[in-house]
Amino acid sequence: MFDKEIMWQSVSEAARVGIAGHIRPDGDCIGSCLAMYNYITENYGCSVTVYIEELPEKYGFLAGSDSIDLSFKDTGNFDVFFALDCGDEERLGKAAKFMKKAVHSYCIDHHKTNTGYAHENLIVHDAAATAEVLYDLMDPARISKNVAECLYLGIVHDTGVFKHSNTTKHTMETAGALLTYGVSSARIIDGTFYEKTYLQNQILGRCLMESILCMDGKVIISSLDRKVQMLYGLVSSDTDGVIDQLRETKGVEVAILLKEMNPRVWRVSMRSQEEVNVATICSKFGGGGHIRAAGCMLNGSVHDVINTLTREIEMQLGPHTPGGIEN
Ligand code: AMP
Ligand code: MN
Ligand code: MN
Repeated sequence: MFDKEIMWQSVSEAARVGIAGHIRPDGDCIGSCLAMYNYITENYGCSVTVYIEELPEKYGFLAGSDSIDLSFKDTGNFDVFFALDCGDEERLGKAAKFMKKAVHSYCIDHHKTNTGYAHENLIVHDAAATAEVLYDLMDPARISKNVAECLYLGIVHDTGVFKHSNTTKHTMETAGALLTYGVSSARIIDGTFYEKTYLQNQILGRCLMESILCMDGKVIISSLDRKVQMLYGLVSSDTDGVIDQLRETKGVEVAILLKEMNPRVWRVSMRSQEEVNVATICSKFGGGGHIRAAGCMLNGSVHDVINTLTREIEMQLGPHTPGGIEN
């Protein structure tokens, strides 16, 4: 049974604490990991190591970002290890081995598909972000502006700036409380969410231009094969926001973005509006996520992948009138 008092007690008794999030980290993952890093460093006497796979430049202003171990160096066993915002053990990537060897491991998350792989697990399905869960675990009197900034950033990113359907009264109240610590909301929202590099805008444009609409306009799909990714020299964060823009297309229920990671191996991102449970679909193929935002990996040609996914969507939405792919 998860008990927050026992969790903080184990941190206070620990000499070494480790923290990690998921591979291809997003804003909630980075914000949550750095919030925990700063909170423990500021309030407890232990040494803290935070592992994150990559840190896009825009997050470099967050306190603790200089201390991130990007190389996943094995420095011996941890007394306490936190897996944050990570729905399954495999997605911890190179940090999975650190968690396995830790004396106490804690998983704090909000993914519907999380099966609880740590010693103690706190999975809050209706929380918009892991950062929202973390705020409830922390003592408000011991939260600094640095910690508040990290948490606020996590919430901003996982709610798409408070607009996704996961945004609750509690989410807004948490964000409101975080503002009282002096967080610069505009800097975080504009500087890390809306601002796009020229390359990101080019890719967004390309994905929109080449998108296809199918299933009577209810599904929109865009894909980036390896050739295109290499042509532009894309990194994972270069496609941030593309799927959200696709989903905003009028009449669309499901948006799909496919990225070819290895020949005929596709990384699938799915978003839905209000009917289709994309977590169920992605779980079927070994992935996971949330009801309205999920992902998985699929093999085959781009057409194989599209057929597989649209079949699953059809099973949830019911058959569409024939007409095939529209442009
Ligand atoms: P993304 O489309 O990558 O932004 O992911 C949407 C949501 O699905 C996030 O909460 C991810 O953590 C989750 N997700 C994405 N890909 C996978 C995967 N292969 N396995 C499990 N969860 C995933
Ligand atoms: Mn995440
Ligand atoms: Mn999250």
